[in-house]
Amino acid sequence: MDEIFFQAVFEVLDSLEPILRSDKIYEEMGILERLVVPDREFKFKVTRLDDTNKVRVNTGYRVQFNNSLGPYKGGLRFHPSVNTSILKFLGFEQIFKNSLTGLMMGGAKGGSDFDPKGKSNAEVLKFCRAYMMELHKYIGARVDIPAGDIGVGAREIGYLFGEYKKITSRYDGIITGKPYMFGGSLLRPEATGYGVVYFADELLRFENKEPLKDKVCCVSGSGNVAIYTIEKPQSFGAIVVSCSDSKGTIYDSRGLDVNLLKEIKFNKRTSLEEYIKTHTSAIYTKVEDYPSGAHEVWTISCYAAFPCATQNELNVNDAKNLIENGCQMVVEGANMPSTSEAIEQFLKEKITFAPAKVANAGGVAVSNFEMTQNASLQRWDMDKVDETLRTTMRQICKRVYLTSKDYGVDGNYVDGANIATFKRVAEAMIAEGI
Ligand code: NDP
Repeated sequence: MDEIFFQAVFEVLDSLEPILRSDKIYEEMGILERLVVPDREFKFKVTRLDDTNKVRVNTGYRVQFNNSLGPYKGGLRFHPSVNTSILKFLGFEQIFKNSLTGLMMGGAKGGSDFDPKGKSNAEVLKFCRAYMMELHKYIGARVDIPAGDIGVGAREIGYLFGEYKKITSRYDGIITGKPYMFGGSLLRPEATGYGVVYFADELLRFENKEPLKDKVCCVSGSGNVAIYTIEKPQSFGAIVVSCSDSKGTIYDSRGLDVNLLKEIKFNKRTSLEEYIKTHTSAIYTKVEDYPSGAHEVWTISCYAAFPCATQNELNVNDAKNLIENGCQMVVEGANMPSTSEAIEQFLKEKITFAPAKVANAGGVAVSNFEMTQNASLQRWDMDKVDETLRTTMRQICKRVYLTSKDYGVDGNYVDGANIATFKRVAEAMIAEGI
């Protein structure tokens, strides 16, 4: 039941051996035992009438994992696959990701098994109102600040925030990813994807490898994270040729048309298959036609691969296909998209591998900038947000790169990230007592 949560925990624990060996304080203070148990978990019923006036019941969740470094912070996911194990894995990862930004944020995650896909705006609004009716009891600008994730974009955030204000009569920065007109930050929609690409660019520099310019890149997914991970490399002169959704994969050798992708996925909210109606030379492959045990998107030859769809979407066969086709770098945009076996393969073959908790921290970093703007009732301009995001990604990259050297695991950024972030969280936990 808790399989995916255990996968996330073991990945961290495996990395910590050098630091646990060199300093006994972590064992004496029971840090690991305390870290793997959430502070609290809320599970609640969410009822509404659908568009045909039928009663519908879903389950809502919020997992507040750890607030040693600041208020709980982490997104909400609305997807039929949501359960306690998935949210515990995401909340656990969020503690470390937030810590790596150097900003004051704890880790949390929440959501529901409600599926907004194919629902009318009216029905999504009804669901968001019913969900917030319960969630508002547990959150607050200094307590716990949710944001978006799969299935929760600007529309859902707007509805959730609107309902919070109705219930409480307060304008508090209790959620991030808000539309700009009522308190959102410029560049928040783009932040995770842009941050992924800034991170990749920095890491290539640290490793003295060739930059992204003129290189072919593959991206999976076609949601918020994927689309901005596709958009940014163009400004570095790279060519992104692929993306995917839950039904199929697009390959466009001339480079993807990002504006068309936004139209298909953000405005029409429909299948990627639409893409080939406009670009007839692009190739669309349906999921049922993927190679056995692998995913089409990872069979395409590329210099850098950016998995940006969902957890465990890149398996060991995909890893082997990427390596065989000359891939030099894998940078995770989604949370834990590579299986443990795939990561082992990348590390064994000395492929530059950047795990999600370092590479996709740009979203939560700009969420923190949004909280700062809300608290001070001020606005930052585009240049300031972009520059601060870029600096944050550079600092994360430097911290992880140097930690991997300091602990004798050069080039292993899974261990580098886990050690760097564990130290910061553990030291706060020790200083705060048990
Ligand atoms: P969205 O809901 O915007 O998009 C998800 C996309 O992934 C959709 O295009 C969906 O396809 C596609 N998808 C889902 N399952 C698969 C699959 N098995 N194969 C291929 N494509 C698939 O979500 P986000 O972009 O917000 O989130 C994506 C990932 O990034 C998640 O892991 C999330 O936790 C992580 N993340 C998100 C952040 C954010 O700021 N939003 C911040 C940090 C991490 P379809 O359209 O068919 O449903």
